[in-house]
Amino acid sequence: MSESLFSDAKQRLETALKYISISEDAIEHLKFPKASLTVSIPVRMDNGSLRIFQGYRVRYDDTRGPTKGGIRFHPDVTLEEVQSLAFWMTFKCAVLNLPFGGAKGGIALNPKELSKMELERLSRGYVDAIADFIGPDIDIPAPDLYTSPMIMGWMMDQYSIIRRQITPAAFTGKPVTIGGSLGRDTATATGAYYVIESINQLFPSAPQDTTVAVQGFGNAGAHIAELLFKAGYKVVAVSDSQGGIYTKNGLDIPSIRQYKEAHRGMKAIYCRGTVCNIIDHEVVSNQELLTLDVDILIPAALENQITEVNANDIKAKFIFEVANGPINSAADKILGEKGIYVVPDILVNAGGVTVSYFEWVQNRSGLYWTLTEVNHRLKQKMVEETKHIWEIAQQHAISLRTAAYVHGLHRLGEAIDSKGTRDYYVNG
Ligand code: GLU
Repeated sequence: MSESLFSDAKQRLETALKYISISEDAIEHLKFPKASLTVSIPVRMDNGSLRIFQGYRVRYDDTRGPTKGGIRFHPDVTLEEVQSLAFWMTFKCAVLNLPFGGAKGGIALNPKELSKMELERLSRGYVDAIADFIGPDIDIPAPDLYTSPMIMGWMMDQYSIIRRQITPAAFTGKPVTIGGSLGRDTATATGAYYVIESINQLFPSAPQDTTVAVQGFGNAGAHIAELLFKAGYKVVAVSDSQGGIYTKNGLDIPSIRQYKEAHRGMKAIYCRGTVCNIIDHEVVSNQELLTLDVDILIPAALENQITEVNANDIKAKFIFEVANGPINSAADKILGEKGIYVVPDILVNAGGVTVSYFEWVQNRSGLYWTLTEVNHRLKQKMVEETKHIWEIAQQHAISLRTAAYVHGLHRLGEAIDSKGTRDYYVNG
């Protein structure tokens, strides 16, 4: 699956190339990751046994600056998947005009099976293994699926021990008390909210009449559901990895968040306990949630949720990709033919890496910003780049995804060429 994920990711590049003229050198350059590292991490488990975990870090392209991207802990992590995600990060950073290239990391494991102490040993072991591959001016990791500020704190501490120098700018998404930025934990959702807001003049109705379904109730999914709920949108369905709930009158998202946190999963809401009695709902599977007749669908979980298999059943009018890669390129085509607007991941979820950039800037300058300052700068960036992408899509009559790639490619192409192209030699 992940091999096709990478070729699928590169297909987006091919499509965008039809609408932009960039040098052959730049195209060749972008087809391959700059460097991929695979490491084996030995970890002493709580019962005294030794387990070896496979870890990866890929630096895809650093033409525009040090590479940037999260680290995920997930059983399906492979080198191919990490390469695809690093490719997306390259475009995401270019789309937001951040002075970064793209990278990604991951460890193949089920984080729910490890104790906290085992997770700490694993996180520190991973940093020991990749320390020479990363750094504040080389490659700066951050959180992703199942990695948290606490894990970033352990990793930054381990890196500082290795370097014998406190180095907060080596990782972003850290706890605020050790150099994390205010607003980083909610940045992906907040950024997505600004994107939705800046194109909501297209919505057929006012927020209170606009229905929303959110797949995934992790950090990004739960926060975007809550932000939209607070702005008056009717969030009719949410789900986590075990399944979801739906009610046509709209859900009370803050109480679902509280309940999920207290009971460690949405399943508790299905039909046990008090909330079950106060929330009138139907149970839906993750797949059923995707095909609900809503105005806005927000996939905020994993890759490849909408493919050629279910694209025809999608009824939403707008899809905002809060997850990375939830729609494959075969499905893109079908959704386009159905007239569904797909607002792509490399724009919608870029709030996370944008506030990571702000965190890196704050660490390096030693001057820390207020939450209002962070959100103000985030809004400015998200609104500005959404506008550019919207205009490119209109100008060429292309999808917003292709427009986002054209926008990113333009910046990447110029940067690659400014380091020298074959024209210097062939025509010289
Ligand atoms: N993992 C996040 C992403 O996919 C954030 C990356 C970062 O902050 O560097 O965009």
